[in-house]
Amino acid sequence: MDSLTLARMQTPKNLHALDVKAFAKAQMHLEGDTPVAEFERLVADCSGEVTGQVSWSAQGAIDPEQRGKDDAWLHLEAKATVPLTCQRCLHPVPVELLIEQDFRFVADEVTALAEDDESEEDLLVLEDSFDLMALIEDELLMNLPLVPMHPACLSEHVPTSKEEEAILAEVKPNPFAVLASLKTRKD
Ligand SMILES: [Zn+2]
Repeated sequence: MDSLTLARMQTPKNLHALDVKAFAKAQMHLEGDTPVAEFERLVADCSGEVTGQVSWSAQGAIDPEQRGKDDAWLHLEAKATVPLTCQRCLHPVPVELLIEQDFRFVADEVTALAEDDESEEDLLVLEDSFDLMALIEDELLMNLPLVPMHPACLSEHVPTSKEEEAILAEVKPNPFAVLASLKTRKD
């Protein structure tokens, strides 16, 4: 799609309550950078200090060529880098999330269920007031890796003093040998 030919309307003030039908009819294009920190559910899955932005864009369309109906469509793109916990070394690992997804709005839940299997796009039920930011957050959450990990961890997991105590407690008969082995391993 040639974005230059698309009408650019004034940005709606409330991205949490969008009139999707009007948005699609006007082939509106919205984009913005929103601090990651504003996405509370996403922040809950992050570790350490959460900085940076979610760069997103949303393009509305009515595409009668698809299915011969004038359903409202939304093309969503979003990009963000979030700090997660590496499941191997337990240090923070920055993970890039990339969203590119088409949505089609249908009249009701029944239609959505009926047409879901045969549709490549995701189906959403049309509401008078649509929360675009919540959809962006949903998509980011769905794209979080199940097991975040560095491609190559910089350091082996260094045992904390508590873990060292536990190791020592297990092999009480000869703690000095364990200390020696811990030392060699760190070297
Ligand atoms: Zn790691």
